[in-house]
Amino acid sequence: MYVSLPDKKVEFLKGVGPKKAAVLAKELNITTLAELLQHYPYRYIDKSRIHKVAEINDETVFYQLVGTIDGMQAHGGPRTTRITAWLTDDTGRLELVWFKGLSWVKTRFVAGRKYVIFGKATLFNGRYNIVHPEVDDYNPEDFTLGESLQGVYSTTESMKSAGLGTRVIAKLIKTALLQLEGAIPETLPKPILQSEKLVDRAEALLKIHLPSNSEDIHKAQYRLKFEEYFFFQLNILQSKKLREQQIKGHVFGKVGDLFNNFYYNHLPFELTNAQKRVIREMRADMGSGMQMNRLLQGDVGSGKTVVALMLMLLAADNGFQSALMAPTEILAQQHFQTISELLVNMPVEVALLTGSTKKTERNVLHKALKEGQLQILIGTHALIEDTVIFSKLGLVIIDEQHRFGVAQRARLYEKSTTPPHVLVMTATPIPRTLAMTQYGDLDYSVIDELPPGRKPIVTSHLYPQHRLRLISFMKKQIAEGRQIYIVYPLIKESEKLDLIALQEGYDALLRDFPEPDYRICVVHGKLSSEDKEFEMQRFVRGQAHIMVATTVIEVGVNVPNATVMIIEHADRFGLSQLHQLRGRVGRGADQSYCILVTDFKLTADGKARVQTMVETTDGFRIAEADLRLRGPGDTQGTQQSGMVQFRLGDLTKDEKIIRHVRTVVQELLTADPQLSAPENLRTKQEFEKLYQKTFDWSLIG
Ligand code: ADP
Ligand code: MG
Repeated sequence: MYVSLPDKKVEFLKGVGPKKAAVLAKELNITTLAELLQHYPYRYIDKSRIHKVAEINDETVFYQLVGTIDGMQAHGGPRTTRITAWLTDDTGRLELVWFKGLSWVKTRFVAGRKYVIFGKATLFNGRYNIVHPEVDDYNPEDFTLGESLQGVYSTTESMKSAGLGTRVIAKLIKTALLQLEGAIPETLPKPILQSEKLVDRAEALLKIHLPSNSEDIHKAQYRLKFEEYFFFQLNILQSKKLREQQIKGHVFGKVGDLFNNFYYNHLPFELTNAQKRVIREMRADMGSGMQMNRLLQGDVGSGKTVVALMLMLLAADNGFQSALMAPTEILAQQHFQTISELLVNMPVEVALLTGSTKKTERNVLHKALKEGQLQILIGTHALIEDTVIFSKLGLVIIDEQHRFGVAQRARLYEKSTTPPHVLVMTATPIPRTLAMTQYGDLDYSVIDELPPGRKPIVTSHLYPQHRLRLISFMKKQIAEGRQIYIVYPLIKESEKLDLIALQEGYDALLRDFPEPDYRICVVHGKLSSEDKEFEMQRFVRGQAHIMVATTVIEVGVNVPNATVMIIEHADRFGLSQLHQLRGRVGRGADQSYCILVTDFKLTADGKARVQTMVETTDGFRIAEADLRLRGPGDTQGTQQSGMVQFRLGDLTKDEKIIRHVRTVVQELLTADPQLSAPENLRTKQEFEKLYQKTFDWSLIG
């Protein structure tokens, strides 16, 4: 997200020109001075200091050295796997090591020339070396400019070969700053600058690039980060407010026969207090005349389905239809089955619509829907396509939201003049920072309590040589009447190999668990949907003891008799996937187990994920660990769904500041909803420019 500045083309900046401009545009998406100035350093080096080789004595320190490079050596036979070289200065020699970019390394250095080397020292076999150092040509001028801290900018190979290394970038930015002197406007309201003790914008931009000390950097970064979050929250909260005030929702005024009859006569268990509370929260929304937009978060197994059902009954009581959308066909089928069973002997018409619904059936269904004979429609996202016409759609529930993006959600609001109430349900706990950003436009309910009597799932980590022990454990569980899942990874890039691994695992399993004493079913994405369904059903009905599967079972299936979840190559799964998979067991009264199988060799991240799973079953802790390990861009596939990328903001670390900024913005909007006070005018203009929209602010009261 860029904040705006005078839109001067970078091409016309001294030292750029059309060629370099093209490279900047291609590599970093930089076309204007504003964008250039917001290419912030990712690190700073203290260039007042050039270390000597003899001084290196600490593994934790970054060193900057100047010297010549010689003695380059390639290792690993005909296919080089590693290159070492020696940096020599007047105090000694230091080994440099590369494992990657080897062809670049081979041609990078000219004998006798001096280079600046930067990197962290590591102690290896009793000697210090630097692995993958940063390399720059040595230019004595760089070290006499007078500033003690210099920003280091990310560059790419093509940028470097176009003469756009980090030092050139630094120079260009300096030129741009000089050129824009006095022309960088403030964007935040003065009172906020004062109360938050923020440096002004021009100063922040200057100091983030040309700091004199680390305090400068700190203040500049904080100010610019604050601004990023500020406008982001302003957008979310303002749209939310506008929607709440402008969009009239269907009013579900009464709790009628269907709801009550179900609650008193059909519900097979007592609702947990958390379930009751979230139903109340949503009833309040839907009865208010507002349009509900709510996120319902509840860990795997917390009982979201029945909550969804009761809300749909409430809709039906008020004469409205509901749609329940699931991300996969299997999950849709299972919802349909669960809900049909719960509604047995109740006068509610429920139907299933997925990609594999036959044409004739589909026609009948479309008609019933249009004429209002169907009250509940369950299916995949085919449900909200334009060809599906409801007579009176009042409520849309989206299960496992992470596959539905913000844009798809927005399409729902536009579906009719009075948009349906929207409930988004997720089993993956959402870290608070994401809840305040990615989902910041939704209200929020949490089921923070599991149905009673659940025993915590015992999770352990095994290596392949424990296989025999594992098999006898499985046999014991089967002898007690339990069922077992075995899940293999299946990743697009290595799909073929993955399928082979699954097939091999299946073959080995057949030897250990021979028919007819044991029955094993297999489910993976390459099966036709009939075959998949057939195999799933064998397991659901208890006709198969073991289900071997790829992650198609990730979401939703509910087989309370299954007590063992074995995950092969567990380190290859993401944390939230592992958590989802583990949630497939522990749904009945029996003790359940999750067994993570991995090779001995694990990456640091793989190990951290497995350890997290062994240590905790708390979805929140897992989600936060996930965010830490993967970074927000990756979490829950948000990349595809248009997740915002912040330039300085870091969702893994900024919970406190986001929360704070959100409050600041809330207070601002409360005090001056239309931002019409003189001190807020610049902020308003900036906001409109940033989001390229003009609001009719008078709509907000
Ligand atoms: P999820 O939130 O993961 O979608 P489900 O709705 O599938 O969870 O519920 C998990 C299991 O718990 C189901 O078998 C469901 O029937 C059961 N269940 C839900 N609510 C309760 C409750 N209040 N008491 C006992 N069992 C419940
Ligand atoms: Mg569910």
